[in-house]
Amino acid sequence: SDIGSQKDRVVTEEEWLQKWEMGNIGFHKEQGHPLLQKYLDVLLNGRSGLRIFFPLCGKAVEMKWLADMGHNVVGVEVSEQAVKEFFSDHSLPYCEEPVPEISGAKMFQSTSGNISLYCCSIYDLSSSMVGKFDGVWDRGALVAVNPCDRQRYASLMINLVEKNSSYLLVTVSYDPNKHKGPPFYVPESEIKSLFG
Ligand code: SAH
Repeated sequence: SDIGSQKDRVVTEEEWLQKWEMGNIGFHKEQGHPLLQKYLDVLLNGRSGLRIFFPLCGKAVEMKWLADMGHNVVGVEVSEQAVKEFFSDHSLPYCEEPVPEISGAKMFQSTSGNISLYCCSIYDLSSSMVGKFDGVWDRGALVAVNPCDRQRYASLMINLVEKNSSYLLVTVSYDPNKHKGPPFYVPESEIKSLFG
């Protein structure tokens, strides 16, 4: 098939936590992503003070970048280590509080209030808890989702965005028979059927 042997591959949350513990985080880039710089105008569309969502955020430096531009950033990340490293890497003071709706989840918020990172699985979030977003930066997110969870992920994302939102999605193109992923290969035809 189009995605070859990747269809049944599963990376567990435990494995993601281990990657962070082992420092096995080749996906993390210290430099802001060139495609976000290139398509920033598409994301913002002339608007200011947006609510921007970072699914599966890791410690993406673009969160700091967009917050510094005056936007409100919300991320979700299963690794507490990643979330804490984000704040310490940027010397940002933060506070943490439990999320009453999700058992075991915590929300880490910069003291300035414009960056809120939920430490839980993205599948535990809903728009009734986090509201809706004007923009999404999806890099290392859809392509990190297990192929069997893609439909669920896309439905959730569609539910989390406002009608006039912009969604920037970065995928990677390669032969899925030569690498087991993640990042997984998500063909364009599948993106169309997932997001319409
Ligand atoms: N978007 C980030 C990180 C990409 S790697 C960047 O651009 O650097 C994918 C991240 O998703 C990892 O940090 C992993 O810990 C996290 N993750 C994996 N499954 C998750 C889930 N179900 N919910 C929330 N985070 C998850």
